[in-house]
Amino acid sequence: MQTEILKIAIQKSGRLSDSSKKLLKECGIKIKNGGGKLLSPATNFPIQVLNLRDDDIPQYVEDGIADIGILGENVVLEANKQVEIVTRLGFASCRLSLAVPKSDTYTDVSFFEGKKVATSYPQILGDYLQKNQINAEIHKISGSVEIAPSIGLADAVCDIVSSGSTLFSNGLKEVEVIMKSEAVLIKRPQLSEEKQSILDKLLFRIQAVKKAESSKYILLNAPNESIPKIKEVIPGMKSPTIIPLADEGWSALHSVVVEEQFWEVIDQLKAAGAQGILVVPIEKMIV
Ligand code: ATP
Ligand code: ZN
Repeated sequence: MQTEILKIAIQKSGRLSDSSKKLLKECGIKIKNGGGKLLSPATNFPIQVLNLRDDDIPQYVEDGIADIGILGENVVLEANKQVEIVTRLGFASCRLSLAVPKSDTYTDVSFFEGKKVATSYPQILGDYLQKNQINAEIHKISGSVEIAPSIGLADAVCDIVSSGSTLFSNGLKEVEVIMKSEAVLIKRPQLSEEKQSILDKLLFRIQAVKKAESSKYILLNAPNESIPKIKEVIPGMKSPTIIPLADEGWSALHSVVVEEQFWEVIDQLKAAGAQGILVVPIEKMIV
């Protein structure tokens, strides 16, 4: 009989909250009370959700208040706690970058020698500067880092960038990418056997959701002589399903294609003689 409950920490409100909740939902996990409370149990899976500030998650996981957590890799690296990254989740993609005033001439990282850099990531920035043998002053601020140069607080910033529009509208330009980040699932290194087996079940579901998101189901008609060529273009999970059509000499083909190669595959299929191509989303994919 299962007695233990896996505690998962997610961001209470912010950029990661909706996607974290959506992921749990797509894994078939129903959270009681809509999940808004500090502690929200699931009704159909041995898991309990802790809603926290993202910066607190690494400490909570290290201390075992939570067993696992979902947060940005940037926050994991900055916190530098005893936690393990189990898997990357593919959302909240961004980068941690150095940016300088647009009007400054920038050639390389030696620009930062003797400069004052504002950031919410003193740990990561400190490591980066040390690796590059640069002596700079790190000025830690917790929010609105991008305005620091315009108010004379710093010469440059080290901040999270996604499109770059925030930097641009504050008169800054991105000059170095320190790290790329996305949401990750972390865990406490020592989990009981029972909790580990709940985590394994959750991971199995997460992989199925992720795999489905990056794949599409494709259906098409083709003259029989085109089939060998088409089979080369779409290998599918194993091999495509081929069904003869009522029209003599024609078949229907069903297969799975990876999202990234999608448009390229479509062009090749058309060139090979495919017609009536249908592409449909896949909800879950167990391989
Ligand atoms: P909290 O109140 O929980 O401390 P926060 O203000 O620190 O929230 P958010 O702005 O919600 O955090 O960002 C959470 C995470 O989303 C970041 O740590 C980063 O990994 C990711 N992220 C993706 N794109 C961006 C972006 N454009 N700006 C900031 N964070 C981003
Ligand atoms: Zn935060």
